[in-house]
Order: sequence, then structure tokens, then C-alpha cells
Amino acid sequence: MANIRNGRPYRRLTAYQRGLGLPCWLCGYEIDYRITGDEAKRSSWAFTLDHAQPLSLGGSLLDPANARSAHRKCNSARGNRTAARAPQRVSRRW
Ligand SMILES: [Zn+2]
Repeated sequence: MANIRNGRPYRRLTAYQRGLGLPCWLCGYEIDYRITGDEAKRSSWAFTLDHAQPLSLGGSLLDPANARSAHRKCNSARGNRTAARAPQRVSRRW
């Protein structure tokens, strides 16, 4: 199965979003854009391409309007939630 994240459109979008130099949209702190290559795959503070509407909820992988800049750690901590600190939608707490 082909991985769309290895495709050129995805890489182009990643490069574009990275080039914006934005802070992390989840925590609001600066992203360390000096971290690149293999180090970026390990660093919690490196840039990752995140998506405002999670892919698992129907968000577009390749739509620039859905692209966000995030720290690796914030991106992975977020999972499928639609906002960083959104309260869990629990209808009853008892
Ligand atoms: Zn962050």
C-alpha cells in the first residue's frame, strides 16, 4: 500500500507549511526550525505538519487550509482531538 505521506504533494505541503515559520498552533510556543533531518524525527520540539481537522475525522491530508504547524510532542499528544485543550465531550461525569 502506497503511503501518501511519501508523495510529492504531501512533501510540498509540508515544506510550504514549514516555510511559514509559525509557532505551534497547539501550545503557542515557537517551533525550533533549525532542527532538521533525522534529528527532527526524534526531537519533541521539531516541526511537524498537523491538521486542524484530523484525518481520522475526514480532514484533508493535502489541503493547505487544513494544515497547521505543531511541535512533534504536541502533535502526538493531541491524537484525534480537534483542539489542544478542548474539554473532553463527556455528557455525564458521575
Ligand atoms: Zn507545541
